[in-house]
Amino acid sequence: MMTAEASTEERGLSDWARQFEVIVWTADAVTLQLLHVSPNAAGILGHPLEQWWTETDFLARHLHPEDRDDALSLFLDATRRRIGRSGVLRFLDANGQALPFLTKVLPREPCEGHVPELRCLMVRLERNTRASQEWERSEREREALLRKEHEARERAEALARQLAAGESRFRSIFESHLIGLVFSDNQGRILDANDAFLRIVGYSREDLETGRINFLDMTAPEFRAVTQRAVEDIEARGVTSTFEKEYVRKDGRRVPVLLGSVRLPASNQNATFVLDLTERKEAEAERERFFRLAPDMFCIAGMDGVFKRVNPAFTRILGWSKEELRARPFLDFIHPEDRGRGEETLAALKRGVAGPGLTVRVSCREGGWKWLAWNAVPVPETGLIYASARDVTQQREAKEQLVLAEQRMRTVINSGPLVLAVLDAEGRFVVSEGKGLRGLGLSPGQVVGRSALEMYANEPEVLELLQRGLRGETCSAIVRTAGRTFEVFYQPVLDEAGRLTSLSIASLDVTERVRVEAEREELIRQLMHERSILQAVLQQLPYSVYIAEAPSGKLFLANAQAEAQIRGPAEPARNLEEYRAYPGFHADGRPYEPHEWPLARAITSGVPVMAEAVHVIRGDGSRGIVEYSATPVRDAQGHITHGVVMGVDVTARKVAEEERERLLEELKLAVSARDEFLGIASHELKTPLTPLALKLEALARAAGAEPDSPMARRLAPHLEVMRRQVKRLAVLVNDLLDVSNIRAGRLALTLEPEQCDLAALVRDVAGRFDTEVKHSGCEVRLHAPAPVLGAWDSSRLEQVVTNLLANAVKYGPGHPVTLSVEAVDGRARLTVHDQGIGIAPEDLQRIWGKFERAVSERHYGGLGLGLYITRQIVEALGGTVKAESTLGEGATFVVELPLQGGAARSA
Ligand code: ADP
Repeated sequence: MMTAEASTEERGLSDWARQFEVIVWTADAVTLQLLHVSPNAAGILGHPLEQWWTETDFLARHLHPEDRDDALSLFLDATRRRIGRSGVLRFLDANGQALPFLTKVLPREPCEGHVPELRCLMVRLERNTRASQEWERSEREREALLRKEHEARERAEALARQLAAGESRFRSIFESHLIGLVFSDNQGRILDANDAFLRIVGYSREDLETGRINFLDMTAPEFRAVTQRAVEDIEARGVTSTFEKEYVRKDGRRVPVLLGSVRLPASNQNATFVLDLTERKEAEAERERFFRLAPDMFCIAGMDGVFKRVNPAFTRILGWSKEELRARPFLDFIHPEDRGRGEETLAALKRGVAGPGLTVRVSCREGGWKWLAWNAVPVPETGLIYASARDVTQQREAKEQLVLAEQRMRTVINSGPLVLAVLDAEGRFVVSEGKGLRGLGLSPGQVVGRSALEMYANEPEVLELLQRGLRGETCSAIVRTAGRTFEVFYQPVLDEAGRLTSLSIASLDVTERVRVEAEREELIRQLMHERSILQAVLQQLPYSVYIAEAPSGKLFLANAQAEAQIRGPAEPARNLEEYRAYPGFHADGRPYEPHEWPLARAITSGVPVMAEAVHVIRGDGSRGIVEYSATPVRDAQGHITHGVVMGVDVTARKVAEEERERLLEELKLAVSARDEFLGIASHELKTPLTPLALKLEALARAAGAEPDSPMARRLAPHLEVMRRQVKRLAVLVNDLLDVSNIRAGRLALTLEPEQCDLAALVRDVAGRFDTEVKHSGCEVRLHAPAPVLGAWDSSRLEQVVTNLLANAVKYGPGHPVTLSVEAVDGRARLTVHDQGIGIAPEDLQRIWGKFERAVSERHYGGLGLGLYITRQIVEALGGTVKAESTLGEGATFVVELPLQGGAARSA
C-alpha cells in the first residue's frame, strides 16, 4: 500500500519537477524530517537521494550557515500561521558550494492520523545578489556548477529510467489480482480498472468499457461526505490519505474497502487503489463477537495498568461497568493482600516479560472478592498489555475446601488412637499414619518400605489376618500386640482384573476402651451387688417402704413389710389422685386427701415429713396407726425425681403409751390420796399424842413424887421407855405433818429470823441427845471453838441438826459422831461426820427424795422423810446441804448457810 502510494507520488512529483530547475520536498512540519523529495534534487545539489531521507536534520545541515536562522523562521512561521512563505535560501551542494534557491513553503493541513507537513518548492536561481557575487568571484566554480548541472541531468535521466521500470512494476501490480486499481477522471468517471477492482464491485469489463461504472453510483449516501473530502484532497494536494468506506456493488450489496487516490498530473487522471476488506471486516466482526461473547474476560490495558478495553465478561463476572473499570488502575481492584504480586507482575510486563500468570482476588461491585487467574502479554511497541482472566473462585474454594477437608482428616487421624496403613501387594508398608502409632512406639511413616509380614512374623494372630487381607479377603478382628489392644479392619483394594493392588488397614487402639469397659462392667457388677443388698435390706426392714416417681406420684416399689403392715396387697397408685383409694385418717377421723399423704407432700413441696401418725384401716378390717416419714429424692441438679416414704406401725406403742398415761394418772391420784391421807392422819395422830405426852409426864411426875412406892418402882423402867417411844412417835408424826405441809406448800419458816449462835444451838441439840447417844453406844464429839452467829429460824435449824445427828447415831451405832461448826467465807458450816454403815454412791442423790431410803426396813426403822425435810428447810434458809460417803466407811453431811440468809421462805 505504502509502496503504491509512494510510487505514484514519486511519479507525480518527478514528472512535474523535471520540467523546471526545481526541487520539491515535503517534511514533517515539527521535526523537519523529510518525507518526500523530488528525484531531481539529487542532480541539482549532488547529495544522493537516500541521504535526504536518512540523514537526520538534512535541511539544517545543508543550509548555508548564514541562512539557517532565516530558513528556520521561514519554516516555522509558515507552519504556525498556516500561510505560504517564501525567501531566497542558500543550500550547500555535495562539494560544499552554496547554491541560491527561491524557496517557497506551504503548510499542509494535517489529515486525521497524519503529522502536519510542510511542502516546499525550491527554484534554482541563476543569480541573486549574493549568488552572482559568488559567481563572479569564481569562474571555476561556475564551470563546476555547470558540470554538476550536467551530472544532475544525467542522474535525472537515470531516474526517469528507473521510473519507467517503476511504471512497469506498477503495471504488474495493476494486472495482478491482489489489489483493485482504477483510473478515473475528475468527474468520477471510471476510465480503466483492473480485474481485481471489477471483482470487488461486481461489474464486468463490458460495464467498464461501455462507461457504466461511476464512482458516485458506487458511493452509499453515508459515505458521500468522506468521498467528497477525498476529491477535495486530490484537487488540493494531488493525493488522498487512505481511508475506509463501503462501495455499493452492482448487485446492490455492500462491500467494505480501503482506498487511496493520487492525481496523475501527466494524464490528468486519478489513480485509486482499492482493497477488499470483506474478509478483514468479517474477521474483525468475528473477533469482536468473540471478544464480546467470550465467557472469559479479555482486556487491553496500558502499561500504567489502566484498562483501555474490557469485554462484557468483566461486567458479568465482577459487576463493574466498563466505565468504572476504566476509571481506576487495575491494581485498585486487587485484594490488598494480593496487590504486591499484582504490582510485581505489572512491573515485569512493563519490562516486556509476560510472566507465568497471576491468580489474585479481585473486588466485586456488590462486595466480596473473586479469584481471577490472569494471563497477560505485553506489546512494548504499542505500549499495550493484552490480557485474559478466568474466574477460578469456585476452583479456589473447592481447593481450599479440599485442603481444609484434608487438614480435618489429618487432625482426625492424628487426634484419635487410630492407625491407618496401606500395604502394597507384597505386604510392604506404603502408608503408616495416625496417633495410634505412638502406642506401638512408632512414628508416622517410620515403617514405610518395611514388610508387614516380616514385622509380625512372630505374632501368628496378626500374621494370619495380614495373609487373609493380602489374599483379597475383607476382615476385621480384635488383636493384641505390643501390650495394646486394637480393633483392626482389613480392606483389600483390587484392580479391574480382580488382582490385589493394595491392602488398606484401619486400626483403632481400643486398649483404653477395653479397660474402661472392663471397669464399667466391674462397676455395674458392684452396683448390682449393692443393689441386691439394698433390695434385701429394703425387704428385711421392719418398716414399710414405698418409692414413688416425681412429679406423677406413681408408686413403683413397696417392700414386703408394706403389705405386712397393711395386712393386704399394696395396690400401686399410678398417680397422686389414686392415693385417694388408701384408707388413711387423721386423729379426728377425717380421711386423708390425696395431696395430704406424707409422700405426696414430700414430692410436691420438697419438704420432708417427719413421723406423722396416720390412722389406717388394714386389709383385714382392723384399725392401726402407722407413723409415716417421707422425704424427696433429688438428682445432681437438685430436681426432685422420686419420693420415699417409710412407715412404722406404732399401734402397739400408742396403746402402751396410752396405758402408761392411764397408770400415771392413776398413780398421781393414788399419791394425792396418800398425801391427803397423810395430812389427815398426821393431824389426827398428833391430836391424841399431845395429851398422851402430857398424861405420861403427869404419870412420871406422880411416880416421882413417891419414888419409893411400889407403884413408882414398877413404873420407873416403863416410864423411860414410854417417854422415848412417845417422843419418837411425835417426831414421826411431825415429819408426816411437815411432808404434808411441804406438799401443800405450807412448810414455812414460821418464826422471824432471829440472831442465834449455831455453835450453841448444836451444843444444845447434842445435849438433848445424850440419852439416845449413850443408848446406842456412841460418843458425840463437838468441835465448835467459836460462836457462829447468824439470823436464822432457830427452831427449824434445830430440826435440821436433830435430823442429821439422829441419822448419824442411827446408822453408826457404837462409833463416835463428830459435830463441827465453823464460819467459812462468810457462811456458817455445820459438818456431821459418823463412822457408820455409809451410803452407796448410787444412793447419794436418791436419799434426798421423799420416802427414799437406802437401808432395809428390817434393820433400820424410819419413813425416809428426815433428809427430805432437812433439805427443804436448808434451802428455805438460803443454804445448801450435801452428803459424802463411801459404803461401810461412814458418812459426812455438810450444811452451809448464809449468815444473814434466814428470810422467811416457803419450801
Ligand atoms: P430415815 O432415816 O427415816 O430412813 P432419812 O430421810 O433420815 O430417813 O434418811 C434417808 C436414808 O438415808 C436412810 O434411810 C438411810 O438409808 C440414809 N441415811 C441417812 N443418814 C445416814 C447416815 N448417817 N449413815 C448412813 N445412811 C444414812
